[in-house]
Amino acid sequence: MNYLRLFVVLSFITVIGCGEQQKPSTEHWFKGNLHTHSYWSDGDEFPEVIMDWYKSHDYQFVALTDHNTLAEGDKWKVVSQDSLYQNGFKNYLDHYGSNWVNYKIDSLNQTHVKLKTYEEYKSLFEEREKFLIIQSEEITDHFQGKPLHMNATNIKKKIDPQGGNSVVEVLQNNIDEVIKQRDELEIPMIAHINHPNFGYAIGLQDMIALKNEKYFEVYNGHHMVNNSGDSTHMSTEKMWDLINIAYVEKNKPLMYGLATDDSHNYHVKGGKWSNAGRGWIVVRADSLSSKSLINAMETGDFYASTGVELSSLIVDEKKISIEVNQKAGVTYQITFIGCKKGKDIPEELTSTEGFKASFELTDDLLFVRCKITSSKLHENPVEDLLYETAWTQPVLVTMSK
Ligand SMILES: [Zn+2]
Ligand SMILES: [Zn+2]
Repeated sequence: MNYLRLFVVLSFITVIGCGEQQKPSTEHWFKGNLHTHSYWSDGDEFPEVIMDWYKSHDYQFVALTDHNTLAEGDKWKVVSQDSLYQNGFKNYLDHYGSNWVNYKIDSLNQTHVKLKTYEEYKSLFEEREKFLIIQSEEITDHFQGKPLHMNATNIKKKIDPQGGNSVVEVLQNNIDEVIKQRDELEIPMIAHINHPNFGYAIGLQDMIALKNEKYFEVYNGHHMVNNSGDSTHMSTEKMWDLINIAYVEKNKPLMYGLATDDSHNYHVKGGKWSNAGRGWIVVRADSLSSKSLINAMETGDFYASTGVELSSLIVDEKKISIEVNQKAGVTYQITFIGCKKGKDIPEELTSTEGFKASFELTDDLLFVRCKITSSKLHENPVEDLLYETAWTQPVLVTMSK
């Protein structure tokens, strides 16, 4: 897959007021993962090895999001005696060389390795318009034993977990810190709520109560986060629609959905491990920079995926049109999901098999989004999410003029 393929906007947009048409703009789709761990916290690999994996697997951007750190300062990692990690270190040393790797072996024969900081490792990989590493942190907080995590993308100063007296207060205090830093530095930043169903820590009403938050993980590739819910908890996808029904009611901006890896395990692969490559987002932006990517995300111009690639996504006031980049022998179910005005539950509005579909945005609807499910099995799935899928962002239906 080549996500750098030029995307030509197929439609001409009428400039309101003068009837002229804009020149067709050219933009790119950029594929990236905004949730990854390394030895800087509880991941089991060196940042360089992880960045190399993403870069060589056709990603254009990645954020290393270790728990409560921005990968700054001195940190020494003791390599586990397990042969898996000893071999990992040997490969790391072989590949990067002793001029780059700073390590020592103590009297107990334990290997200590000084981890490369964000400033150090990014210089090995970043290439203009080809690969970008966005400095980020997983702000890792809790309330009464419930894990309350959120990713702060493109922050420049570490944010300590702020705490609080309820689930909502803890989340809000951390969101507010990201917004404060964004406003102080005047740099685009995003806070996104991670894996709400991890430990079933964050419920629907908690999500609805948040202010100034419009991103969450509808799909997280970690094997312990319960994306699908259980007999007493709704899936994150159902939660997404119910959040948006409430947000429209309260005149809040719509919540957007991300897919991420939340990868920790780089040596063993399978359904019991959190591996790289399970879920990502694809952002349509004019250039590969944090600013352009975040600005595009702010307008909902991205989709989440676990394998399905779109070749066209056109949203205007009247219609959503989707076209899938077909793979040989694979079929696609394209389903438009939304909520009708006056209703409080989401529903499937239409569902068709094929590689393209469109949906008319009529006045009886609150919002519409699209889910594309492939007949192709995911090569390394979690839970019962067996088939490659993509989710486009919900579109608010505004009254026609
Ligand atoms: Zn987490
Ligand atoms: Zn994480």
